[in-house]
Amino acid sequence: MIGPAVRSVTRAVLDFALPPRCPGCGVIVDDIDGFCVDCWKGIDFLGDAGCKTCGLPLQATDADTCGVCLAKPPRIARTRSAVAYDDLSRSLAIRLKYGRKVALARTMARYMAPLLPKERADCLLVPVPLHRSRTWNRGFNQSVLVARELAKRGGIRIDSFALRRHRRTPPLKGMGMLQRRKAVAGAFAVPDRTRVAGKTIVLIDDVLTTGSTAEACARVLKRAGAARVELLSWARVVRPSQLAL
Ligand SMILES: [Zn+2]
Ligand SMILES: [Zn+2]
Repeated sequence: MIGPAVRSVTRAVLDFALPPRCPGCGVIVDDIDGFCVDCWKGIDFLGDAGCKTCGLPLQATDADTCGVCLAKPPRIARTRSAVAYDDLSRSLAIRLKYGRKVALARTMARYMAPLLPKERADCLLVPVPLHRSRTWNRGFNQSVLVARELAKRGGIRIDSFALRRHRRTPPLKGMGMLQRRKAVAGAFAVPDRTRVAGKTIVLIDDVLTTGSTAEACARVLKRAGAARVELLSWARVVRPSQLAL
């Protein structure tokens, strides 16, 4: 029987020896961790456009912040995602989640890194935690894998233990905004305030749907003294019809 350690070494050697492949369709590409031209053309990169705070598209009458954020500034001071949620971006997230393909975490981090905050002195990357029973079953948290790659690329510190999910939450799939909010309320805790107090926390997640999970994280982080909370995800649901996914 081959142990996981041997498998991961074999994998690393294979990753090194084999030509890089497009994480979208699998064709051989020149550029490691990048998409082929065809996939790249089909991806909706969101970039740093939209509302300065929530990142959603601005109306013609808005300046740099949308009316919703102006009326009630959200707890999360800046929300950014690399790409729009669609079949391709979803497939990367799914394969990372169930297949532990670290190469996919590197690809995601590559496109997320330009959206990290410019000011990084007091910055800390905090992956959205899973409940320990889920981490136990799966063996890893996909957001931790992405956050580690981002930390390397951006030269930012990471703390995977700053937040804890102390209550198991039901799958949020198919729930509306209000139901989701209720389902995650009180699920997170900051075990040690000194780890986050005074810092800019950048929450790292794979897919952003309504933002209720991140919002629940931000609430406890702010309460523990975090100076500012941002959210950076790989993909983001832009069309409300996709909330059922
Ligand atoms: Zn491709
Ligand atoms: Zn906004």
